[in-house]
Amino acid sequence: MKVSQLFTKTAKNAPADEVAKNAQLLIRAGYIHKEMAGVYTYLPLGKRVLENIIQVIREEMDAIGGNEMALTALQASDAWKASGRWSDEVMDVWFKTKLANGTELGLAPTHEEPLTQLMKNFIHSYKDLPVYPYQFQTKFRNEIRSKSGLMRGREFWMKDLYSFSRTQAEHDAFYDKISDAYRAIFARLGLGNLTYKTFASGGSFAKFSHEFQTLSPVGEDTIYVHKEKQIAINQEVFTDEVLAELGVARDELVEEKAVEVGNIFTLGTRFSEPLELRFTDENGDAQPVIMGSYGIGPSRLMGLLAEHFADDKGLVWPEAIAPYRVYLVRIGDAEAVTERADALYEALTAQGIEVLYDDRDERPGAKFADAELLGIPHRVTVSERSIEQEGVEYTARSGGESSILTQDELLAKLA
Ligand code: ATP
Ligand code: MG
Repeated sequence: MKVSQLFTKTAKNAPADEVAKNAQLLIRAGYIHKEMAGVYTYLPLGKRVLENIIQVIREEMDAIGGNEMALTALQASDAWKASGRWSDEVMDVWFKTKLANGTELGLAPTHEEPLTQLMKNFIHSYKDLPVYPYQFQTKFRNEIRSKSGLMRGREFWMKDLYSFSRTQAEHDAFYDKISDAYRAIFARLGLGNLTYKTFASGGSFAKFSHEFQTLSPVGEDTIYVHKEKQIAINQEVFTDEVLAELGVARDELVEEKAVEVGNIFTLGTRFSEPLELRFTDENGDAQPVIMGSYGIGPSRLMGLLAEHFADDKGLVWPEAIAPYRVYLVRIGDAEAVTERADALYEALTAQGIEVLYDDRDERPGAKFADAELLGIPHRVTVSERSIEQEGVEYTARSGGESSILTQDELLAKLA
């Protein structure tokens, strides 16, 4: 991609009403646009980052047997009435609307009900189980406060996977498997060391659910962390009884602020009973399906990553999610420089390396400032000076001295 062909521009300032650092940075760098509080458009660069996050999650979900699909955002009320969650008192985040004939519809804040209803078409016998449908989907929630940028949207992206199992044992085995997959995801996103599997309240069908909480000074949640055991306890279940059960002492735990990046939940028959999702077991008896739900917030993660991987000059994306790997800067418009930079762009692109090529006729200072704000991991500069030194100037966004590299040395570094 050439910067001259990118319609977005960087900006000195974020909108005055934007208080979250992640959104300020992402807006200034041209990754997102604020439509209103809690509602953001993903611009071309931001879309690439979001897709990279989604791809990491997708690979780990597919590896444990996930079936990707896409449910509808528009929801008829019947399944939600059957589960008891249509009422605004029970589910206080509903956005509702009406058909022309007056029929009420909702915009899905989550998808347990429609998926449970849908699966009645496909689950009949024990031979049809277990199955693990999932999706990346826009959720709508009328959150009371939405001041954390991408981390708390009113319209946001969620990965939601639902498990349908025959027995509690089959469910429990999958619950552990997806818990490991979550750890792999957060490690690949560069948040492994900061993210704790956290005991939270379990609802009617399990003692606990588990949240994946990433330590952050801007976190809205408070958790109690056991660094040695690599676990944490959510405030809502932080009781002497739970501490005893987990075999930890109060003074071994440290209170921390954290962001809930994902959670895993045993649903039991909470939805399969009211919606009558049953299967016939080996003995020919009808049984309710045992369910679980497993969420991750890709847009919340993007906000958190922007918040965490940044310095006073701008974003510093980890390799795994950066929109491009290389920011190629051409300094001046001497023919030799343009030729060399164009050729390098072609060569890197031909190797499958994603390059954002700053081919604009801008001052070097403006180009370097944009490179820093955008946070692309590797900066490569072609100038008359670098040509005299028979190479290109290489600078890592994460820090360290610049160096002159030959094209082969550069390719080796990017390999
Ligand atoms: P919170 O307690 O932060 O409101 P939640 O318990 O309502 O989260 P879930 O309903 O379990 O969250 O949603 C699954 C995942 O979706 C969460 O772990 C989080 O990563 C993400 N998520 C939830 N609400 C939002 C939101 N308003 N904006 C962005 N991401 C969200
Ligand atoms: Mg919530």
